[in-house]
Amino acid sequence: MSEQLKPCPWCGSNYLHTEWGLGEVRCKTCNAIGPNAGQRTQSSAIAGWNARTDDSLRAQLATVTAERDKLQRDFDSAADEVQRVLKEKHDALAQRDEARGLVNRFAKSRARIAQMQCSLMTYPIEMIDEIDTEERSIHEALSESAARWAKEQA
Ligand SMILES: [Zn+2]
Repeated sequence: MSEQLKPCPWCGSNYLHTEWGLGEVRCKTCNAIGPNAGQRTQSSAIAGWNARTDDSLRAQLATVTAERDKLQRDFDSAADEVQRVLKEKHDALAQRDEARGLVNRFAKSRARIAQMQCSLMTYPIEMIDEIDTEERSIHEALSESAARWAKEQA
């Protein structure tokens, strides 16, 4: 192998194979082949191989890399958007479930308060305390949900 050959422009490997009869330089690491393959002279094959490590190749690589990065960013922002929409739907469903739970709870509490009001004649003090407690718990549950929803909307 000639000492004049530069490393592979694609992978940087020095593990190169030469076939001077075919005018070929090939990277044994990534299989890249020099542009002058098929030419008959060793010097033109070397010149072709070495010419591939110039700035134009690096510029091409930089362009491709920039395009890839842009595609990656586009993909990432699309993925973020999908995530955001899914989260919105999920939050909406969670709110609906929570609202449904509150409605059920209010219905039960209302029934319980109606029962307690019937007992009011017999045990006035205990019933007033119980009704107060029940109403306070409904109010707290409602305030918590309303505050959380307001925060999520913000
Ligand atoms: Zn290579």
